[in-house]
Amino acid sequence: MKLEAVTVGTELLLGYTLDTNAADIGRQLGAIGVAVVRRTSVGDEPAAIQSAVADALARTGAVLITGGLGPTRDDVTKHTVAALFDAPLEFVPEAWQALVARFARIGRTAPEANRSQAMVPRGATILPNRWGTAPGLWLEGGPGLAIMLPGVPHEMRGLLEHEVAPRLARRAGDLVVRSRTLRTTAIPESALAERLGAIEDELTPLTLAYLPGLDGVDLRVTSWGAGMNEADLRLAVAIDRLRSLAGPYAYGEDEADLAAEVLAAAGARSMHLAVAESCTGGLVGARLTAIPGSSAVFRGGTIAYDNAVKRKELGVPVGILRRHGAVSEQVAAAMARGAAKRFGTELAVAVTGIAGPDGGTAEKPVGTVCFATLVDGEAQTTTSIIPGSRGDVRGRAAQTVLYLLLRRLLPA
Ligand code: AMP
Ligand code: MG
Repeated sequence: MKLEAVTVGTELLLGYTLDTNAADIGRQLGAIGVAVVRRTSVGDEPAAIQSAVADALARTGAVLITGGLGPTRDDVTKHTVAALFDAPLEFVPEAWQALVARFARIGRTAPEANRSQAMVPRGATILPNRWGTAPGLWLEGGPGLAIMLPGVPHEMRGLLEHEVAPRLARRAGDLVVRSRTLRTTAIPESALAERLGAIEDELTPLTLAYLPGLDGVDLRVTSWGAGMNEADLRLAVAIDRLRSLAGPYAYGEDEADLAAEVLAAAGARSMHLAVAESCTGGLVGARLTAIPGSSAVFRGGTIAYDNAVKRKELGVPVGILRRHGAVSEQVAAAMARGAAKRFGTELAVAVTGIAGPDGGTAEKPVGTVCFATLVDGEAQTTTSIIPGSRGDVRGRAAQTVLYLLLRRLLPA
């Protein structure tokens, strides 16, 4: 089955809101065998919405629209689409009662303005919204099928998953689009491509996409138009193959996070972790503490930005600072030792570098970052020159030090 998506909202065109709904729709519907063949974004203007929806229906016969279902004056999707279907809006008492009950649960009375949300195009099916006030609408008639969902992303996703996908799946047949993603880090895209060789030929009919990002390169394999079981089997084989070719650079699948992998590996060995951060300014600690349950492993850290803090809080000897400079492997190692001692941990990592845009020298250009990992008293250090903006250097440095520690915690 084919369908087009129309996302409504002037904020999308202005670029203030990223169109995450379109991405969610593509992923969710692809997974049940519904191909989103085109997407269009329009502002909150009746004429623009009307022509976008009419064009989509003329081409494909089915359209999923998000946005513009709220109670405010800029929300005009419902009127516009109802007009296309010649379906007058009618007040539905049950829908209003549901709204009144929803407001009552949070101790409020439903504002009159919300009455408009109980106006439903004649013949439409109401898709109940457990996550907010605007119900979704499923409207079928002469022009085809129009599904309208609220714009708020988590409400949209809830309705898509629980109301829309099951209804569409019944029409879609059994051929699905499914993907799995292997995450890699600490290896550039080109070097990774060399390791994988002519893997695309081997994977056919699956397709492979290299998706480079700040944290590394994701490898996404996709099966198109096969049955669910066959797709899953093929994807499992492909992921195993990619994993063995990517070797030590692969660290997980889909939403895997290196910080979580580090915590799991340290936890499995009953070890505890401390961090000492200069140029990352707490990013490593933030990544670790973002993982639920991190307190079992992560003890704490020191943001030692100034040299005096490196000396006083982490005991970095002044002689080392003078001789090698703050951005040096010697200082990184001393910072890691200091953090392990201060926080009483078996494991520590340290980062010190030049995030830029200023502060580089011929010998130590912007992006030079020194790392130390400490495992049971044994420090290892390394230096990278990380490309990119200040934000890129800091983010990549945090990812790199987590990777270096993980390599030492996992069996080779
Ligand atoms: P609306 O349903 O148009 O009133 O939108 C409600 C909220 O959802 C607004 O804050 C929008 O910025 C947000 N929103 C609307 N459409 C999208 C979209 N396609 N992607 C992400 N957010 C959206
Ligand atoms: Mg809107």
